[in-house]
Amino acid sequence: NVRVRFAPSPTGGLHLGGVRTALFNYLFAKQHGGTFVLRIEDTDQTRFVPGAEEYIQDCLRWCSIEPDESPIHRGQYGPYRQSERKANYRKYAEQLVANGYAYYAFDTTEELDIQRTAQANFKYSHENRLQLRNSLNLPASETEQLLAEGHPHVIRIKMPVGETIGFEDLIRGMVSFDSSLVDDKVLLKADGMPTYHLAVVVDDYLMAITHAFRGEEWLPSAPVHILLWEYLGWRNAMPRWAHLPLILKPDGNGKLSKRDGDRLGFPVYAMNWHDPKTGDLTKGFREMGFLPEAFVNMLALLGWNDGTDQEIFTLDELVAKFSIDRISKAGAKFDFEKAKWFNHEWIKRSDDSALLPGLYGILVANGIHDTNEQYLLAILALVKERLTYTSDFWEQASYFFKRPEGYDLPAVQPKWSTEKTAFFTDMIAKLEDFDPWHSVELESFYKLAINASGMKMGELMLPFRIMLVGGKFGPHVFDIAALLGREETVARMKKGLE
Ligand code: GLU
Repeated sequence: NVRVRFAPSPTGGLHLGGVRTALFNYLFAKQHGGTFVLRIEDTDQTRFVPGAEEYIQDCLRWCSIEPDESPIHRGQYGPYRQSERKANYRKYAEQLVANGYAYYAFDTTEELDIQRTAQANFKYSHENRLQLRNSLNLPASETEQLLAEGHPHVIRIKMPVGETIGFEDLIRGMVSFDSSLVDDKVLLKADGMPTYHLAVVVDDYLMAITHAFRGEEWLPSAPVHILLWEYLGWRNAMPRWAHLPLILKPDGNGKLSKRDGDRLGFPVYAMNWHDPKTGDLTKGFREMGFLPEAFVNMLALLGWNDGTDQEIFTLDELVAKFSIDRISKAGAKFDFEKAKWFNHEWIKRSDDSALLPGLYGILVANGIHDTNEQYLLAILALVKERLTYTSDFWEQASYFFKRPEGYDLPAVQPKWSTEKTAFFTDMIAKLEDFDPWHSVELESFYKLAINASGMKMGELMLPFRIMLVGGKFGPHVFDIAALLGREETVARMKKGLE
């Protein structure tokens, strides 16, 4: 029975890499009929940010990748917040000490600071542990006394010397580490809270996790985790790990960060995030106008493809086609233009009815309150292909709701002539009782009149468009005229001639 977990720390908004991690866990679980667990890793109280957990849950909901088990969807492995599991961890840390795999360390922050000042790359490790204040070093009676007196202490793992620690990564294959290079990580902190390393192992075990997709930045922690699985006697139950490739800056130069988004003008968070401490707002894809389908589709292709040219996938298709052997080992460059392309494609594919609420919102924001749904749907059919974001609707279609305020006439004006004025005056008169008022009929009627005038097609088509929409843009001009209706078309032509 496949059980995967997404285990974010509630320290702020979700970077798109975080959502991709959640997505890959979700896809793998659903493909195998398994369970997708959300576990909130909030043991570092100094980094806890209020609202971050709700944000994470909202974000997964927005993406339609909701967990089967989570703090709000409790299953039989709860609680799902590590801070609520605090009581579990100490006994495992103590067990490690008792078996000689870990030790108590009494060094104060000041003492460690002195070490750090004396030595730039100070690491608490096998090289210096015997010179520091810990139970490996102190007489047993002194350790007991310090503990009995309630002296602040941490529990550290005792990393072995000269061992090769390896595991089979689902993406990278065999990965191994030299244990001598890894420091003696803290497992249990002075406040009794576990560190990430201890908590992640204990909880993956207690929650019966079978597979874990996580970011490549966690690979260096793997040797510590493997040893903990072994030292706690659980090695056979260790989940299979897949360390996902990094998401890189657009130029491929290093990991994509929040700052790159600010600098280059694109979001890197899933949804807007208001930092409660600084009051800062970090913009998100959702508010930028991305459809969740497009966002998820784009994320899935950051480091994965199905081996064909297919780029548009629904979530169900992703569940069906996802495969670990098609995840690349190399970092995936983030390309915002490509992200926009996905959104454009998804807007084209979405049901009009799904876009309507957003469109009404845009209209109201622009002071248009009474809109006929049929009219709106007909407009949408004309401009849908032109939208990168739903919010582009106003820019692309405002002229359907109000007459152009100005005209981009300079482009045509210099070549204007009395002949043209005559053509339009005559055309207005004819259109006043032209029937039927349909695009195709209007087009052939108008074009016949141009031919009869002896003037060129372009000379008379462009001014017509500008009179109707105000500029040199928009869909087929006769479709526009048909939709605007006779009265409005004629009125705009008259105004254009003024
Ligand atoms: N809490 C870690 C994070 O914030 C989880 C890493 C893991 O999946 O093991 O990303």
